[in-house]
Amino acid sequence: MANPLHHSVPAGQSLCASCGFCCNGVLFTAVTLQSTDKPEQLIELGLDVKRRGRGFRFAQPCVAFKSGRCSIYQQRPGHCAKFDCRLLQKLNLGDISLIDAIETVKKAKEELAKLETSLKEAGDANPELALNTRFRRVMSQPLDLSAGPAFWKTRSRLTKAVQRFTAMVEKRFLD
Ligand code: SF4
Ligand code: SF4
Repeated sequence: MANPLHHSVPAGQSLCASCGFCCNGVLFTAVTLQSTDKPEQLIELGLDVKRRGRGFRFAQPCVAFKSGRCSIYQQRPGHCAKFDCRLLQKLNLGDISLIDAIETVKKAKEELAKLETSLKEAGDANPELALNTRFRRVMSQPLDLSAGPAFWKTRSRLTKAVQRFTAMVEKRFLD
């Protein structure tokens, strides 16, 4: 069943409205278009579609993600229409209640908030980019070998926050 940021299954709609991770740059850095997608049409709808090798993609956070939902739902790309995260799949199968699924999203957001704090402390200057890109940019900053313990503690906190969040996301949201 397709992602209801996306469609009209009430339980899934409620879950996705509380989350948004597959559109806001938390799970993905970009979406690759499929052969059935029409890049020109998606550009007209406002997506920042760019050529990449032989294909096309657009970066996340997605510009069509507005007020917690997909603003181009009827014409969204194929990948978006097909993607159901593990949590949504479990909800659709009846393996988790809506309350527990929303609680899972809440806990993930709490971990994400800690990660955001650690990123900021470590000098993240691009909060508008996808989470993974932000982490890579911060960690690729040149090391100052003369830096005091505070610098290393900041990096250590960030690394631990990323590990915790990644483990949670892989377990709860990804296959
Ligand atoms: S990550 Fe899953 S629960 Fe969150 S919005 Fe996407 S499909 Fe819905
Ligand atoms: S097009 Fe819609 S479903 Fe796809 S990433 Fe953007 S907001 Fe999400």
